[in-house]
Amino acid sequence: MSEDCVFCREVIGRRNASIICENELAIAFMDHAPVEEGHMLVIPKKHFRDIFSVEEESYIAVHRMARELAPLVMKVTEADGMNIGQNNGACANQIVFHYHLHIIPRFCERKVSWDRRKVSTDELEKFAFLLREEIRKTPGTLKLTS
Ligand SMILES: [Zn+2]
Repeated sequence: MSEDCVFCREVIGRRNASIICENELAIAFMDHAPVEEGHMLVIPKKHFRDIFSVEEESYIAVHRMARELAPLVMKVTEADGMNIGQNNGACANQIVFHYHLHIIPRFCERKVSWDRRKVSTDELEKFAFLLREEIRKTPGTLKLTS
């Protein structure tokens, strides 16, 4: 846990985010400046800077959660495709230096854009709520609370 890190402090510590699901090792929440509707992040609960330092156990937990979330995100957003990826280093456009995986639903009728949008907390909460409802209905390992 790093007080200097916005994910450690605000998301894991203060829970100041639209949280979707979590377990002992990983947590998923809405990106507050999405590039597309439904853009979310999955992060390890332990602080790791990037792919070069993340421990295997946390790495696997994050990616397992993303794989399980992906079809539910497709269902809830009615998306046509999805980007999943992560950035390492400032020159690679990493902005928060706590390992994170982006899940970005994509829609055929819209151009793929990486521009950040300003959205309301209500909009983020609405999507997180729909996804939590979907998790409740779906058998699997995703849990709403750790
Ligand atoms: Zn952190």
